[in-house]
Amino acid sequence: MTTRVKRAYRYRFYPTDVQAAELSRTFGCVRKVYNMALAARTEAWALRQERINYNTTSAMLTAWKKTEELAFLNDVSSVPLQQALRHLQAAFTAFFAKQSMYPRFKSRKKSRKSAGYTSSAFRFRDGKLTLAKMDQPLDIVWSRPLPEGALPSTVTVSQDAAGRWFVSLLVEDPAVQPLPATGSAVGIDAGLGHLLTLSTGEKIANPGHERRDRARLARAQRNLARKARGDGANRAKARRKVAKVYARITDRRRDHLHKLTTRLVRENQTLVIEDLTVRNMLSNGKLSRAISDAAWSQFRSMLEYKAAWYGREVIAVDRWFPSSKLCSVCGTLQKRMPLSVRTWTCDCGATHDRDVNAAKNLLAAGLAVSACGAGVRPQRESSRTGQSVTKQEALRREP
Ligand SMILES: [Zn+2]
Repeated sequence: MTTRVKRAYRYRFYPTDVQAAELSRTFGCVRKVYNMALAARTEAWALRQERINYNTTSAMLTAWKKTEELAFLNDVSSVPLQQALRHLQAAFTAFFAKQSMYPRFKSRKKSRKSAGYTSSAFRFRDGKLTLAKMDQPLDIVWSRPLPEGALPSTVTVSQDAAGRWFVSLLVEDPAVQPLPATGSAVGIDAGLGHLLTLSTGEKIANPGHERRDRARLARAQRNLARKARGDGANRAKARRKVAKVYARITDRRRDHLHKLTTRLVRENQTLVIEDLTVRNMLSNGKLSRAISDAAWSQFRSMLEYKAAWYGREVIAVDRWFPSSKLCSVCGTLQKRMPLSVRTWTCDCGATHDRDVNAAKNLLAAGLAVSACGAGVRPQRESSRTGQSVTKQEALRREP
């Protein structure tokens, strides 16, 4: 079976002043429409226990555009506005499936500025991309080639907090084909001191520059906090500095995670991870740093889509599975395992590195369900039905 894989190619571009103004206007309208639709859906639910779907919000948008105070929505391409409603629909679907938190309002300062264009709202010809409401193609830096003959189905334009512009093209990539199957499986634990620990005993460190970059970020944030409220120009400058350092951290992290997930997916047929949900991560002090949280979700999503590309399997094991307290040799459960304990010896005589032991337990639990026919299902399916592996199940299924 050949699967057609869609893949996003992201590039920087440099808009003209006219294009930048058009895009900024579009971002503003996207945010406005998203927030109004979210308010309408929230209100309908809170007051009337009524669920509003995409079609209803789309009809609302048509009505909003006819009012005097929202007539400005007609000035931008209607496609990104429709896309915003689709994104909101997706956010609600994920929320109802208990995969994410309730959708939040987009803030003018903090939210990512972006606008999505489907094929009716852009023209891609001779390697030039022109968006709706624009006369000139975007000045894109083609840092890597698009696949031969690829035609984008969706184009997303965004601007980060440091003011840089990006365009992401979603295209079918015929080059991506399932890899030959391998027999290897790996358990992957999100550690404390390390980015990841594998059941093979390998520990993968955070990129070397991350510590220095974080120190720089902390310094820039302190500097911003010191700037007085009234001091507009210096405050804005300090804020841009924070955004710049942060942008560099996220760029480097993305590169690092790309290399890592490609390697893990190539080397292994089955990859077992812990199902850390958003909710859990936010309430958990040790993981609460925004950067670590984002790194984990990014890691997981890259792992999942690459596994789908290459015909691999990702299994997420229930987050209540006591992977650090369980001896991976004899299966005895320790009563307490404070975070300060890095190595420990079980009554059976086995000495464990805390994180490696946890990764081995994850692997065993994942393989137990995988080997047991009924338990094998695509990860997304299992978390939707809430049927991920519980500790008891995993132990029962162990040989
Ligand atoms: Zn033991």
